[in-house]
Formats: sequence, C-alpha cells, structure tokens
Amino acid sequence: MIEENTKTLLEEIPATNPFGEKITLVAAVKLQTADSINRAICGGITDIGDNHVQEFRDKYELINGNPRRHFIGRLQTNKIKYLLGKVDLYHSVDRYNLAEELSKKSEAKGLTSNILIQINIGNEETKGGFALKEAEIAYERISALPALKVEGLMAMLPFEGSEEYLRSLARNMRRIFEEIKKKDGNIKYLSMGMSGDWKLCVEEGSNMIRVGTAIFGKRPA
Ligand SMILES: *Cc1c(COP(=O)(O)O)cnc(C)c1O
Repeated sequence: MIEENTKTLLEEIPATNPFGEKITLVAAVKLQTADSINRAICGGITDIGDNHVQEFRDKYELINGNPRRHFIGRLQTNKIKYLLGKVDLYHSVDRYNLAEELSKKSEAKGLTSNILIQINIGNEETKGGFALKEAEIAYERISALPALKVEGLMAMLPFEGSEEYLRSLARNMRRIFEEIKKKDGNIKYLSMGMSGDWKLCVEEGSNMIRVGTAIFGKRPA
C-alpha cells in the first residue's frame, strides 16, 4: 500500500512548479516504522523528513537506500548534537537562538549546516517561526552566522481557512522568497505543502513539499 501510494503521489506531482523549478517530495516520517519508511523508498522516495530527534536516532541505521535526510520538526538546542553532520537540510529554524546554537555547534565540528528559515505565515500561536514582515531581517541575521548556509524558507499553512485565504498566504510566501532569492544565489527551496494542501502550494510556487499521510496513511496515535 505504502509503495503504491508513493508511486501514485509521485505521478500526481508535476515535474515543475509554475516557475519552472523542480519539485522535491520529502516523506514526513514521524511515527512511522523503519519498515514503512523503507517501503516508501522502494516506491521512489529519495528524501525523508523527521520531526523527533529520538526517532531519528533510533531509525537512522535502519533506513535503506541512503535517502537525503531532512529535519522538519521543532528542534531544542540541547538536541542539536545528535543531528550534526547527519541532516542534509534543517527546515525548521524558527528562532535566533536555535540558529546561533546550530551555527556554533556546526562550527565546532568543522561543518556547515544547510537550513531553511521557518516563517509563521498564518500568524498562529501554535506554530513556530518568524513573522512574514520579519523574514528579511531574519534572513540577514541568520545568513551572517558563520557555519550556516541558508537555502530558503519553510512554512506551514493553517489547517483552516478558505482556499482564497490559503492561496493568498502561499503567494505571500512566494513573494518574500523571491525577494530574498534576488540577493542570494544559495536560496533555492521554498518548503511548503503537506498532504492536504500541497497542490495549492505548488501552484503558488512551492518547490519542496513534505507529505506524510498521503504516503503512509493515517498516523498511529
Ligand atoms: C507531519 C508533518 C508534515 C506532513 O503532514 P501530512 O498532513 O501527514 O502530510 C509536514 N510537515 C511537517 C512539519 C510535519 O510535522
């Protein structure tokens, strides 16, 4: 089933977004077993994204096929040490102190960590991230840190709201992404879109989507 779901999803996702950029599918693997994740990899998944450090560690050696590793969950600074050098892209840099600690700890290991800056596009209390109007300042400050390479922006749309409203938020994300991209050739990813809203997000210019349920089915409680 997981393998089939993956194949179907990969067929549904257009090769490029309206801006002509290739779309990367990241499988959101929280609460999934290594076996389930390996099935998704058999179905064509090349990128996997974890939310929880403990799960990431427990499953790290059990995943086949050497996929690219993403960290997409809220990250506590005291757990950074478990991820250093193992994560290809951190999506959820949502506050300065996390950026500073990640840079400091990366530098101490002689690494550069690739990151996205998380924007709280719907201004939701339950979600982390910088306000949209803070995005450029956050970019300036974070990209000045020595051991981080900022590669783009990440956002989660609210679960509720009219399609028109959600589209307007996604469009605002694309606009600020363009602004930052103009200044910096390393900026390439706009990570936005999950099972329920990835189509809309891709139509509005996302080029990286994080999908769990549509691949694995409903998550175990
Ligand atoms: C769980 C999760 C997803 C995937 O959500 P689905 O609705 O299951 O596709 C995407 N992004 C983040 C940050 C998540 O935590």
